Amino acid sequence: MDIVKGIAASTGLYIGKAMLWDGGELSEVPRYTFRRLADCEKEWARFQNVLTNAADIRKKKIACNVAKLNKTESDLLKTQIMMLEDIELHDQVHARIFENSENAEWAVWEISHTMTQLLMTSPDANLRERASDIAGICQEIIYNLMGRERHTLSKLSQNSIIVARDILPSDAISMDKRHVRGIVLDMGSVTCHTAILARSFEIPAVVGLGGLSRKIENGATLILNAALGEVIVNPDAETLKKYRKMLREHEQARKTAEAVQTDAPVTRDGVPITLKANIGLPEETAKVYKYGAQGIGLFRSEFLFLTPGAPSEEEAQFQAYSKVIKASGGKPVTIRTSDMGGDKILPNFYNFEEKNPLLGWRAVRFSLSQPEMFKMQLRAILRAGVYGSARIMFPLISSLDELLQAKQLLDEAKTECEQAKQKFAADMKVGTMIEVPAAALIAEALAAHVDFFSIGTNDLAQYTLAVDRGNEKVNALGNPRHPAVLRLIKMAADAARKAGIGVSVCGQVAADTSMTALLLGLGIEELSMNAASIPAVAAALRTLNMAACRKLAEKALGCATAGEVEDLFKR
Ligand code: PEP
Ligand code: MG
Repeated sequence: MDIVKGIAASTGLYIGKAMLWDGGELSEVPRYTFRRLADCEKEWARFQNVLTNAADIRKKKIACNVAKLNKTESDLLKTQIMMLEDIELHDQVHARIFENSENAEWAVWEISHTMTQLLMTSPDANLRERASDIAGICQEIIYNLMGRERHTLSKLSQNSIIVARDILPSDAISMDKRHVRGIVLDMGSVTCHTAILARSFEIPAVVGLGGLSRKIENGATLILNAALGEVIVNPDAETLKKYRKMLREHEQARKTAEAVQTDAPVTRDGVPITLKANIGLPEETAKVYKYGAQGIGLFRSEFLFLTPGAPSEEEAQFQAYSKVIKASGGKPVTIRTSDMGGDKILPNFYNFEEKNPLLGWRAVRFSLSQPEMFKMQLRAILRAGVYGSARIMFPLISSLDELLQAKQLLDEAKTECEQAKQKFAADMKVGTMIEVPAAALIAEALAAHVDFFSIGTNDLAQYTLAVDRGNEKVNALGNPRHPAVLRLIKMAADAARKAGIGVSVCGQVAADTSMTALLLGLGIEELSMNAASIPAVAAALRTLNMAACRKLAEKALGCATAGEVEDLFKR
């Protein structure tokens, strides 16, 4: 029996079997060249064989229909057959094999890369969707050529604890949530997006475990005590017995917690603090209100686009936003425009080979460079806004110019809705995230142009402290209690108060009850978090007194280190 300590990313307890997952990554595509024409001919025949087989399997599926395909599934198979038989693809591979003497895997990889990049930047939503289809089918061809299969987590036959080096958010979003009962990762941190999704789906997760995935055997029994960030590998009988009892108690406690309706959250001295929920998918909406959420403080809309068969067209987006707004029954819903990029990419889709994706073409930067795509999202949000109380928010703003450009496109989107005679929420409130130090430093200038700020402490800590939030090796350095981060939060809160606009925190610290007093003292009046944490934060609030919170914040702002700040909590 081994007890391994990692980072508690999503609380919960589970006992089950390990399912090792290789990440389904095409980490290395073989590349070699041929000298003789005869070898090129053999390679060409090998390529054709793989494509014919892949098309035949699909044709048989449609013809026999043993799988009882519905229309969408059979349409998808037909489209895939068309792609597999696409003359252009065949011609391009032929040219690369015979003119460059390249092997087929490499030829397909290169062609897929060029095609998807081209399609992805198209203003036409259908073409952009085709990019992902092409990337998917090319990946399958490459796997087949290599004699391998890409395993995803979308269909599992039994309850498992997934053990992997890492899981991309795009894979996490499509995983089989009925059967994934726990997640154990070598990489990651509390604020990496797979951890965020695990919390949203209420799947216990321990991350940042170094090389554990290489030491665990497939099928090994694991106890995942995620609250403590602990993984027990091959527990002995006595430990198993103890944890099984704990698991039964846990289940009971969870059922009771689900039934809890929290009272309106106020501090002990009667100051009301708004507690809202963060969501990634529309389906989560109903659940968050069971935990007493007073609205949705952050809808991470980019997760919509990471869902397989994702709705990228305006109508499908409009439906998704409307669903959240309607299910919120008049409670405010803050929809953040797409924060795509960074770690939130589809493999082989947004494949732009950035050296530093977290400093690159991400979030509002990506949106501003694709104005038609961006306006489509803005129109969908504006139109959905008529069903309740929605607000729009821009991620990763780092300058006033960016904010003004985004607002200009919002105005254009409104004009387009008018021209199309569509109903829309003309006076929708607009906010910006404060998650880049530059934004906090110019908060006064930004505040003059928005209705609210939402401070994303996950990124604010990452960019202030130069710590990749997904890298377990430097995770401990990314402490949001660092006085530098606290001072930036204070700057943003002060600027908001001065301008008379709202200010909230929607990063992970909002769910951390040890930080509640400090955040309130810094001037934060609203917290948005994973819904399951709301009851605990509401309970913490009830013990706090605002004057003491302000004193604590004043002391923390004067500290030199995160350690000194943490010491203040102990007093
Ligand atoms: C943040 O950065 O704190 C935030 C809430 O946004 P995300 O975690 O989606 O980057
Ligand atoms: Mg962020």
